[in-house]
Amino acid sequence: MNLQPRTVTTPALRIVPRDQHIISRRNISKAALRVLYRLNEAGYTAYLVGGAVRDLLLGTQPKDFDIATSATPDEVKKLFRNCRLIGRRFRLAHVVFGPEIIEVATFRGLGEEDGEGDRHIVDGRIVRDNIWGSIEEDAVRRDFRINAMYYDISDFSVRDYVGGMQDLEDRVLRLIGDPETRYREDPVRMLRAARLAAKLDLRIDDAATAPFQALGPLLTEAAPARLFDESLKMFLGGHGLKSFHMLERCGLLTFLFPATARALARGDRALRALVEHGLENTDARVAEGKSVTPAFLFAVLLWGEVRDQAHLGIGQGVDDNEAWARATTRVMAEQCQRVAIPRRFTFTMEEIWLLQPRFEQLQRKRVFRLMAHPRFRAAFDFLLLRADESVAMDELGQWWAHAQQLPQDVLASALPASGGKSGDGAMPVVASAPPRRRRRRSGSKPGST
Ligand code: ATP
Ligand code: MG
Repeated sequence: MNLQPRTVTTPALRIVPRDQHIISRRNISKAALRVLYRLNEAGYTAYLVGGAVRDLLLGTQPKDFDIATSATPDEVKKLFRNCRLIGRRFRLAHVVFGPEIIEVATFRGLGEEDGEGDRHIVDGRIVRDNIWGSIEEDAVRRDFRINAMYYDISDFSVRDYVGGMQDLEDRVLRLIGDPETRYREDPVRMLRAARLAAKLDLRIDDAATAPFQALGPLLTEAAPARLFDESLKMFLGGHGLKSFHMLERCGLLTFLFPATARALARGDRALRALVEHGLENTDARVAEGKSVTPAFLFAVLLWGEVRDQAHLGIGQGVDDNEAWARATTRVMAEQCQRVAIPRRFTFTMEEIWLLQPRFEQLQRKRVFRLMAHPRFRAAFDFLLLRADESVAMDELGQWWAHAQQLPQDVLASALPASGGKSGDGAMPVVASAPPRRRRRRSGSKPGST
């Protein structure tokens, strides 16, 4: 049977009544409810759809609420003052309630293969999709079966067109239609599979993983800006470590972060520990509601390659600073061809990397200059993570942690004016100040971030 989405016309509808599912209006955002009711009152059909329905059925709180409706974007705009239309590739209405945005999408239709209306397909890839259709058609063009369920505000039932309920019960991620066709239409669906499996603790169906090896390379043609967004969702969404492992297991890491995959493939156990700790720390911060920056984490992911290339250059006789600068530029340039990391982040990443060798220069002036650097805090946190690299790095991190706690004059007198490490290669000994009388320099609590 050909299950390609474009030929599926009558999916089997299963209506799950209110008393047979756990979705309660109490867990749906007020803003989303208002949009649903208003569309209904105006005579349109409107449903909560996608990730929100899926997450509510799994008993977790969705991070956003999307709505699918029979109203066209222009009709939605007429109903809501606080509405703006966005997107070209995929036209949508955003209804804005303070900080919350409710995304309202018109049911997408199947249309004709050759771009009738406003759908464009290039080499099997959907590059534009603005053909309106029925809810049945809308369901089958979604990616995974668990993402194609609709919550009906008029009777509180869940409409399941493609077997999503069954998949949630089986805790499995299945694509709608023929996997190869669906990945060719949009290769980013492969990343979404890995991300959702990690986030929701689901198994990916064998049929959905089988094409990864052959089709993974298509990811190199995906828009780098979109891959940046997808990377943020994977690594900064609170389940970064699991997403990372899932990407590796699926063989997809190499298409997104080739330098990371290469460095890890050299079998460097310490580097793996460093990357995993970086991801773990990020996940912990997200869980505690603290801020996280992509710059720090991406610096962690690419560090192995930057460091190894710099050392290679130095080994070949290139001047230290020059070798580090070259390695940084080269690794960043390669990375940005895949994932469009915005300038404000690449700048911070480069600073974090270039400050690393400076932690090894323990002459008085240099130490104080480094401590005063605007990026010192991030670079020092990075150094602490590098404790995984070697005992020496661990010691260096501790040295800097300790040094920051000392009164400036005590620290200054312990440091050599020049020459750096003492004759036997040991770090200058900086004695602890007597505990009671210690005056801590303000704002220098090590490891506080
Ligand atoms: P998250 O929890 O990260 O928000 P999500 O599934 O809601 O996950 P969104 O990007 O918010 O992801 O997408 C909302 C819905 O739109 C999905 O549940 C799915 O039905 C549909 N969708 C999103 N991306 C695609 C895609 N690439 N191909 C087909 N359908 C998609
Ligand atoms: Mg969503």
